[in-house]
Amino acid sequence: MAEKKLFCPEAKLAEIAAAFGTPFHLYDEAGIRRMARQLLAAFAWCPSFREHYAVKALPNPHILAIMRDEDLGADCSSLAELLLAEAVGLRGPEICFTSNDTPPEEFVKARALGATINLDDITHLRFLENCAGLPPLLSFRYNPGPQRSGGNAIIGTPEESKYGLTHAQLLQAIGEAKAKGVQRFGLHTMVVSNELKADYLIGTATMMFELAVELKEKLNVAVEFINLGGGLGLAYRPEEAELDLAALGEAIRQEYQRILQPAGLDKVGLAMESGRLMTGPFGLLVTRAIHTKDTYKHYIGVDACMAHLMRPALYNAYHHITVLGKANAPANHIYDVVGSLCENNDKFAINRTLPEIQVGDLLAIHDTGAHGTAMGFNYNGKLRCQELLLHEDGSVQLIRRAETMADLFATLDYPGLKLS
Ligand SMILES: *Cc1c(COP(=O)(O)O)cnc(C)c1O
Repeated sequence: MAEKKLFCPEAKLAEIAAAFGTPFHLYDEAGIRRMARQLLAAFAWCPSFREHYAVKALPNPHILAIMRDEDLGADCSSLAELLLAEAVGLRGPEICFTSNDTPPEEFVKARALGATINLDDITHLRFLENCAGLPPLLSFRYNPGPQRSGGNAIIGTPEESKYGLTHAQLLQAIGEAKAKGVQRFGLHTMVVSNELKADYLIGTATMMFELAVELKEKLNVAVEFINLGGGLGLAYRPEEAELDLAALGEAIRQEYQRILQPAGLDKVGLAMESGRLMTGPFGLLVTRAIHTKDTYKHYIGVDACMAHLMRPALYNAYHHITVLGKANAPANHIYDVVGSLCENNDKFAINRTLPEIQVGDLLAIHDTGAHGTAMGFNYNGKLRCQELLLHEDGSVQLIRRAETMADLFATLDYPGLKLS
């Protein structure tokens, strides 16, 4: 079986653990920059290509500032994410706002920043008009329904998904928006998540290019851009193959030429909103074994829990684990690696074959750079852990401190409540 590499040498991880304490998420600046450049290079054939990094994957302004330096924009879907994008200086079309069930104040903020708004429903046209006014450029999120199936389970089949407009609604909405004075249009879709099959991603591009041609023919609307959303997957398991971005870009270029150019749509811009791909592989959750327990199974209890990474509990997701300092030890023990939350699904791994683990050993859980801290929560009084950034020069910066009891109790006002 292929091994998954750590982006940071084991000895250095141990030093960081000694200096900062455990648990922590560590992010790799060099890897994040490399991925940003790879994605832009794969679509360099399209001069107006823009990647709007999906902020929800790792919503930290220090990370967002790296994305901005690499010429990426931001994809926001909440007020907090808009504020983070604003904080690093992103404005106007650098931000796209792809929300759903949107509260009015979020539309107001998105309009104030000049963000490109992707409307999730036909009724949002009037809603947006009433709360923030209509911008000159509007984009709509398309839900192809039964036209598109065969993706994986995270979003589900398009017909079961709450997102986007139907085909008929999309045509109607563009007509209505035109009547209300909107002059410029974009299209958006996101029908899949964590997809490693390039063919599926290419098929989505094909569908959107054909839709753009249809809008030209039926409504005489030439869309300015097509946003293919996120959904590019990670090779979480050692035996999985990473997406070949260059090949994906080339295949989409061929579809662009085949479908859009003959229709006179050869100036259409392309956009993406990748999140997971941009940060996921460049995070490690480093945690220490604090207990071993042998009952009907063998357990390793660590000082992290599902408040720091809930993907295994939520989706039964696989995250690779490296036990530091045991590269040459035989992997001949079968463990459940668990956290301290009072939920039996607080397990980072179930029946995982690993080297023998002792109390005090450090474990590095891989691919936690997306939806790790971001999905964190305080159930059972658990506190989110610190986040560290490994800079390209090898220095380590605390980019978010660990939560404290004072943070947890900040919204409570009760005289007898102590912090320790
Ligand atoms: C989550 C999300 C993304 C990012 O998806 P990834 O699978 O992380 O690339 C992009 N756009 C929208 C609207 C999202 O909700």
